Amino acid sequence: MLLRPFPWDDLPALCDSFRCGHSAEWAARGKPFAMPGVDKPHYPPDRLCDVRHIKLEVALDFKRKRITGVASHTLAAVNDGLAALDLDSIDLDIKAVRLGGKPLAFDVRQDKLHVELGRPCKAGEEFVLAVQYEGSPRRGLYFNAPDKHYPRRPLQAWTQGEDMDSRFWYPCFDFPNQKATSEVIATVPEPFVVLSNGHLVKTTKNARGKTRTYHWLQDKPHANYLITLVAGDYAQVKGKAGSVPLDYYVPKGSEKDVERVFGRTPEMVRFFASKIGVPYAWDKYAQVVVADFIFGGMENTSATTLTDTALFDKRAGLDYDVDGLIAHELAHQWWGDLLTCHSWSHAWLNEGFATYFDALFKEHHRGVDEFRYQMLGNARGYMMEDAGRYRRPIVTNVYAEPIDIFDRHLYEKGSLVLHMLRFVLGDDLFWKALGHYGRAFRGKTVVTKDLERSIEQATGRDLSWFFDEWVYKGGHPNFKLAYAWDDATKTASLSVSQTQEVDSLTSLFRMPVDVAFTTSQGERVTRVQIEQKEHTFSFPLPEKPLMVRFDPGNWVLKTVDFSPPKEMLLHQLKNDGDVTGRIAAAQALAKLGGQDVITALKEAVVKDGFWGVQAEAARALGQMKSDAAMQALIEALPKVAPPKARRGVVGALGEYKDEAAASALLPFAGRDKSYFVEAEAARALGRTRDKRAYEALEKAMSRDSYAEVVRAGACDGLAELRDEKAIPLLTEWTRQGKPQQARGPAIMALGKLGEGKREVLEHLTELVNDHWLRVRLSTIEALAVLKDVKAIPALDAQVARDLDGRVKRAGREAMARIREGKDRTDDVKKLRDDFDKLMEDNKKLRDRLDKLEAKPAAEMPKPAEQPARKPKKATEQKS
Ligand SMILES: [Zn+2]
Repeated sequence: MLLRPFPWDDLPALCDSFRCGHSAEWAARGKPFAMPGVDKPHYPPDRLCDVRHIKLEVALDFKRKRITGVASHTLAAVNDGLAALDLDSIDLDIKAVRLGGKPLAFDVRQDKLHVELGRPCKAGEEFVLAVQYEGSPRRGLYFNAPDKHYPRRPLQAWTQGEDMDSRFWYPCFDFPNQKATSEVIATVPEPFVVLSNGHLVKTTKNARGKTRTYHWLQDKPHANYLITLVAGDYAQVKGKAGSVPLDYYVPKGSEKDVERVFGRTPEMVRFFASKIGVPYAWDKYAQVVVADFIFGGMENTSATTLTDTALFDKRAGLDYDVDGLIAHELAHQWWGDLLTCHSWSHAWLNEGFATYFDALFKEHHRGVDEFRYQMLGNARGYMMEDAGRYRRPIVTNVYAEPIDIFDRHLYEKGSLVLHMLRFVLGDDLFWKALGHYGRAFRGKTVVTKDLERSIEQATGRDLSWFFDEWVYKGGHPNFKLAYAWDDATKTASLSVSQTQEVDSLTSLFRMPVDVAFTTSQGERVTRVQIEQKEHTFSFPLPEKPLMVRFDPGNWVLKTVDFSPPKEMLLHQLKNDGDVTGRIAAAQALAKLGGQDVITALKEAVVKDGFWGVQAEAARALGQMKSDAAMQALIEALPKVAPPKARRGVVGALGEYKDEAAASALLPFAGRDKSYFVEAEAARALGRTRDKRAYEALEKAMSRDSYAEVVRAGACDGLAELRDEKAIPLLTEWTRQGKPQQARGPAIMALGKLGEGKREVLEHLTELVNDHWLRVRLSTIEALAVLKDVKAIPALDAQVARDLDGRVKRAGREAMARIREGKDRTDDVKKLRDDFDKLMEDNKKLRDRLDKLEAKPAAEMPKPAEQPARKPKKATEQKS
């Protein structure tokens, strides 16, 4: 499952104004994860019977948004004497329950269907329990239909089982702790087609009712939450990956997009099968796009569901693809579907793996630079959550709902844990271990210990210590480093200390780390073992090194506080073969400042061979906050060809509240070949607060784009502009009838602009109960930003009535933030103003420093010749 369906959700990981995740700035740590009084420990249910087969015979009534059917479970008692059973069932109208055709007594109790079997069963005795039911599901099964606001919305029905929503559309044992074969026999109106798991046994035309019945059979066991049913008026495009049939179900008229969007699927199937050493296990691999999906993608066994925003157009394809989404869901066909987490506590065995395999495909397809930059993005995503939200162990059973732990710890940190395993074991042993794990547990359910044991069995390496600190505990090491060179003994020394607070949640880390020195004779890499709070390592070298790297390749999840000498950093920015090293150098240099730094960063922006480094060097120039750095950005901008790098440059210009920056941005906010550059320029233009910005952003608001990318950028820009006259325009874009993807950003912008505005608060409190999930989530975030206690009753009511766990958790966090902030609003306002002034003063000071530095030494005034010290402005003295 991938949570975030929209292209701009990925932007923070790529290149915008977020602080870098690689530095010590992320050393802060968020709150505890568990919410008192709400979260509690969860355990898998007892398995009273084995579920062997699930057969669903259903008919969909699109007009009434209703399902009628029979759910038959082939079961076998685990122990002698089984006389009654509880199935999970919510809101379903149970008509009858039968055992071998004989009616049984049953009872509907809250979320359970209680069935009396009529006699005690013997262990192993197989029986078929058939439940006849109907219902209008509020979750699990979703009917899309046109309405007065969205007359062009397609008529479709789709299901979403994960995590435990199948119970809303058929009675079942709704937990991943066991597996069964399954069968879906679905009747839908003509000309709809039905997609489900496994292979299509047959279709039958029912002449009388103008309907057709599709019979799908999944004859290899899988978990209940992976059962899918999608119905709609689709075009079907066929392909192949070796012997695996590939199917793409897209809205009619979108057939031409299939190659652009899904073209790498066959290569992904081949790559994963060969790397894992386990062939693709299922009858086919189908991908279907649905409208208004509540996630980005869902890996239903052999039949993945994707958001229709996956269908990007040609112009978006210039600097955007959905290979990550496609690879993620495909990787789940092994990690999640073939081997399935036994309980949600271990869901990182699904999501961490899928997230890492998405990156691994990128490494295979686009090379190591892209791969390392993506993993850096994953680290930043996790760091943002750890510093800004909470810290938790990856494996935990304490939550309100399973979806609560589908966060950046589960996905991003999970992927980084696998990456570190690869580092600790080395490539050969890593793949040997994963292959063994995949083969040993295919078709089974798994907990983290199964992975640990598999590694031990395959490689002899006991990694209990690794799993303890990285998986069963939280956090990461914060390293502080100091480097020195002794010319007499030709020895470099590196002292390393771990500065994180060590407590019951966070370890003093034990971890091997590579240290690399580059001299004119080449690179020398030494692996050191870190396990204490303080270490000092000595490295005899043939000559004074040009460059020192701690953890080249950026394998270890960490923050680093390290300032090597400037000349080493300049060498690193230019010459390090590792993109993460060049990025780290750019960041460290920005803090040191100086004209030589600006020149070097500008050169990196224009000439570096990798767009990520170009963008990060631009960001570093943005952070320098000096006129010279701004000029460097302005001069570089027309010379930057890759759109993703250009996105970084325009974003960095947004750091400058300056007419010149705005003048440079205006044309790009008006039009760029790339939607994403246009959007980023709009965002940045707002941040310049230039008086010409409003008109340009108003224009950008009128432009349609793929997935509303440009309008989303314009909304952010209007929020950053802090001009209240945008409120009516933004309010308009929050309304029903506007594209759903535009409503969220407009709502968020209102949250930032609406402080103290009663009409904004009232409007947002109405939207908090919107039909569309993404609108509800955006509204909650906007209300949290508004920090008005008057929003609390509406949030509280929504938390109580909403069926989506994400809304509940977000609502609770928002209320906590509002309550915490309610006494501090004035303080924050004052702080913000002080901060703006400080930054302005800082910029002036840096400009003066840069000018001084730029002068040849002879021109430098000697201390005695300095003009008599005028009393300086207080702020200058302080800085
Ligand atoms: Zn996933």
